[in-house]
Amino acid sequence: MDSVFNPTRMQAARALLNKSSDIVITTHKSPDGDAMGSSLALHHFLIRLGKRSTVIVPDEFPSFLQWLPGHGEVRVHQKEAKVCADAIRNCDLIFSLDYNHLSRTDELRTLLEKATQPFILIDHHQQPDSFPEVSFSDISACSTAEMIYDFIQALGGQQHLDATVGTCIYTGIMTDSGSFRFPSVSAHTHMIVADLIERGVEHSFIHRQVYDTNLLSRLQLVGYALSERLEMLNKRAAMISLDAATLRRFNHQPGDTEGLVNHALSIRDVNLAVFVREGANEVKLSFRSKGAFDVNAFARKHFKGGGHANAAGGSSNESFSEVLSRLREILNSLEHELNY
Ligand code: 5GP
Ligand code: MN
Repeated sequence: MDSVFNPTRMQAARALLNKSSDIVITTHKSPDGDAMGSSLALHHFLIRLGKRSTVIVPDEFPSFLQWLPGHGEVRVHQKEAKVCADAIRNCDLIFSLDYNHLSRTDELRTLLEKATQPFILIDHHQQPDSFPEVSFSDISACSTAEMIYDFIQALGGQQHLDATVGTCIYTGIMTDSGSFRFPSVSAHTHMIVADLIERGVEHSFIHRQVYDTNLLSRLQLVGYALSERLEMLNKRAAMISLDAATLRRFNHQPGDTEGLVNHALSIRDVNLAVFVREGANEVKLSFRSKGAFDVNAFARKHFKGGGHANAAGGSSNESFSEVLSRLREILNSLEHELNY
């Protein structure tokens, strides 16, 4: 068993679980497949342990995840602020999944900062904060969902790893690993997935639900972005940028631009890809790299963000065009660093 789930930490987590009957699970804003998969997997597992469990997300999750077992029970803070505040106030224990700074929870942050209950963190991002009582942080894990599997095993709960829990875990692993292609995928990842398939998880069905349920407008947005909004910032860096008017024109829905940045990274010789999206209150940025260039450090330094060495994000309160010109400037001076 991975040393992250060592006896000391497991004992602390077990003690907190034993004392708790009402548990809240939280994850980051703009929830992705790993955020939802790990949260719902833990949710089903806690219910099987006889606990009350509430999954709370800061804002709406994409339609390609709105089939996951239990998706209808998820509380969206942006839509149901009072329900979420009550659930947090009345619970005994809070899980933080797939994020390691409270700032990643957007408007949930105030509620979580006020909460006096203990936190258990399970996450795979770099540079974790110190807010949780018990912290399972593994930056080598390909996904938080993979860690949920290990957590359940370490708790001795393998009899509860059924197809329902497994489907949520598989979705988190598949989406965060780029369908098993990122360097963070290990033999352990494949062993987990083999075990899940033996337990009845239908991998092909899951893949279809996530990747083959596009609306025509989403595919047309991707087509437009690639043909009209993709530019080379230098020989090694490519950028796709979408302003609010364009997003409206293509009826943009949460999750529609998920994965777009990977198309820019797929260009031969490109080692850094950037995706810039104009949101309602801020400009959101996604960074992806091949090899040595550390986008976590880059996002932290320039766009108050973070993530992983090869996949990170950030945001800015500058105008869309200010962000684009700052990016062009920064990337101009970085061309030699990206030349490897
Ligand atoms: P994405 O580009 O897919 O939104 O995010 C890539 C990775 O960076 C994810 O692991 C995500 O959690 C992290 N990330 C995205 N945006 C932010 C941000 O604004 N701040 C931090 N700290 N991490 C982010
Ligand atoms: Mn993740």
